[in-house]
Parts: sequence; structure tokens; C-alpha cells
Amino acid sequence: MASPCVICSEPCGRKLSKSFPDVNTTSRNDYCRALGVDPVIFAHIKTRRYLCFKHFDNDDCEEVDGKTVLSRGAYPKELTEREKNFLICNPPVARLRKPGSRL
Ligand SMILES: [Zn+2]
Repeated sequence: MASPCVICSEPCGRKLSKSFPDVNTTSRNDYCRALGVDPVIFAHIKTRRYLCFKHFDNDDCEEVDGKTVLSRGAYPKELTEREKNFLICNPPVARLRKPGSRL
């Protein structure tokens, strides 16, 4: 099943996507630093999620046995202003919050 990409919200299949590191891990912070965003933006993402390969440099993607794989230790590219704005303006938490739910 395809799940929406943590960056662009487009459905990404497991084949051409990379799992996003778990919350409160050094890898998660490193990813955020590479993307150029505050980890707080992704703080609500606590389940297993993915990001598309297109957020990585082409040099980090290799063809192995006809499949595209990401090289080990690859980090995503810094987001463009447009992508950052998209993330900030469309926080997934707003879509998940149930209308009328009480704190
Ligand atoms: Zn994406």
C-alpha cells in the first residue's frame, strides 16, 4: 500500500521511497538538518512513513539488478522554499485532527 510522502504528500510506493527515521532518533534530526527544516515540523510523525527518492540527489540513487536503490548513508537534499512552504502550510497534523475533538 502506498502511503503519502512526508515531504510532498504524494503517494509513494515502497519501491521508490525511503523510510523516514523514527521520531527522537539522531537519524531523524540528521534528516531534518539535511532538509533544512526544524524537526518540530515532523514531530507528529510517529508511525512508519516514507519519503520519495526524488528528495534525494540523483547521485545517491543507483540501479541494482534493475531496481533503483538508495546508496547507504544517503541524506535527502535541502528542500526548496516552495517545498518548505508546502510543508508549513499543509501540516499533516491539521488534516488528522478530528473536527470538534476536545483536548
Ligand atoms: Zn515526496
